[in-house]
Amino acid sequence: MKKVLSFDIDQTLNIAKTPIPDEIADLLIGCLDHYEICPISGQKFDQFLIQIVNRLVERGVTSEQMKHMHLFVAQGTQYYRYSPEKADASYDEGNWEQVYNFPLTDEEVEKITAAIEQAAKELGLWEEDKLQDGDEIIENRLSQVTFSALGQKAGTEEKYAWDPDTKKREKIVARAKELAPEFDYEIGGTTSINAIKPGMNKEFGMTKLLEELDVDKSEILYFGDMTQPGGNDYPVVQMGIDTITVRSHEDTAYALRGILGVTE
Ligand SMILES: [Mg+2]
Repeated sequence: MKKVLSFDIDQTLNIAKTPIPDEIADLLIGCLDHYEICPISGQKFDQFLIQIVNRLVERGVTSEQMKHMHLFVAQGTQYYRYSPEKADASYDEGNWEQVYNFPLTDEEVEKITAAIEQAAKELGLWEEDKLQDGDEIIENRLSQVTFSALGQKAGTEEKYAWDPDTKKREKIVARAKELAPEFDYEIGGTTSINAIKPGMNKEFGMTKLLEELDVDKSEILYFGDMTQPGGNDYPVVQMGIDTITVRSHEDTAYALRGILGVTE
C-alpha cells in the first residue's frame, strides 16, 4: 500500500523550469487527500514555491491539504514542511518550516565552480555570450552547485535544443571529474549539471524522507524522467523504490489520473 507519492520536478511535473500546468496542479491537489506528496529536485526553495506551491494555491488547495506537502529541496539536502498555527488559516508563505539543511562549505562551492567553468571553457561550451541580463551559468544552491549551460532565464526551446542527447554535458562532467574528483556530477533537466558531495544525491534525500515521514521504501511510488544510469533520478531506482519513468508531465498526468481513479 503506497502512502507517499514522490516526484522529480523538471520534465516530470512541468516543462523544465516553468510552473506546473493546471492539470498537474489539480491532480496533485486531489492526491493530497490520499497521500503524502513529496517533490524532490535540485532546485532552490524559491523555485519550489514558484513552480509548484503557488500554483496549488491558485488552484484552491486548502491549508489542511498543504500539510501533506513536503518539499525536498536541493535533492533533499533541505526539507520544508507546511506548519500553520491554525489548520483553517488561509495560506501564508511564512508557514513553511525548514526541518533540516546540509549546506556545502564556501571552499567546496569555490572548488566545484572553478572545475566546471574550466571544463566548459576548455570544451568550448561556456556560453556566456548567450546569457540574458543578470543571469548566470553557475549557481550556488547551498547544498549543491548547479551549472545551467544557457542560464536560468533562457527560453525553453533554446534549452531543449542545446543538448538533447546529453553528450555535451557528459563531456563537461568527465573533465570536471578530473579537475575536482572529490565531487559527484549529475545530469538533470535540459541544460543542467548538479555537483554535490558524494552521496548527497536523491538517495540521501529519499533516505531522509523515509526517516522524516516514518515510512518504509515499499510505501513510496516515485516519478522521474532521468532514471537511466548517470541521470539524477537513478539513485532512487538503485534504492529499490518503485519508480515510474515518464517522458514528460503528460505521462505523469496519465498515471495520476489512473491512481486517483482507483482511489476515489
Ligand atoms: Mg527531471
